[in-house]
Amino acid sequence: MNQIDNSLIEQVVQGVIAQLNGLDDNTIPLELSNRHVHLSEKDSLELFGSPLSRKQDLSQPGQYLCNERLRIIGPKGVIDNVAILGPTREESQVELSLTDARKLGMDLPIRQSGDIQGTPGIVLSSGKKIIAIDKGVIVAGRHIHMSPADAKRFGVTDRQIVCVHMQGKRPAIFNDVLIRVHKDFKLAMHIDFDEANGCGCDTSAKCQIVTAATGAICAN
Ligand SMILES: [Zn+2]
Repeated sequence: MNQIDNSLIEQVVQGVIAQLNGLDDNTIPLELSNRHVHLSEKDSLELFGSPLSRKQDLSQPGQYLCNERLRIIGPKGVIDNVAILGPTREESQVELSLTDARKLGMDLPIRQSGDIQGTPGIVLSSGKKIIAIDKGVIVAGRHIHMSPADAKRFGVTDRQIVCVHMQGKRPAIFNDVLIRVHKDFKLAMHIDFDEANGCGCDTSAKCQIVTAATGAICAN
């Protein structure tokens, strides 16, 4: 009898914890990425003459928004006041939406962050200094960050492609969402504003993995 009581209590406690954590329905928190730049240490020093300064922490541990901003200059247009995210990286990378690409007059590939081989370059201006990077401009592929524990809970593995039901004002299923597993990742789905607007989603939208349909593993 005692044992039954304990397991019942355990079930109730787990249910309450899951509800408190918002995990009772396997919903994935949605975060929207605006256009931004990651700079190499060399490029940041060249543009600003001093190390980047932290303005505010982002949701993924260790990532932050910098006080510095950049103008990005494409063949047919300019976008001002573009955010820079720290810390510095091995190579500079510019993440834009397809709408931004159109404005700049650029034909951009959809790539996952860090996969910049063969991508177009761009001109960056800090106001004091202008530099050109010869590659690194991408439209970021949809992805979900999660910890190994979350991956186990959702039954998925690192680099797997899944389908996600976006329950916004214009419900849609994204069928090409990359799972990225790391012990430091906090559960979050990342899409850009074009994609969010396309399915009428803001950060309150419910997103759920509906199937690992293709079973495909990303080549990157
Ligand atoms: Zn991300």
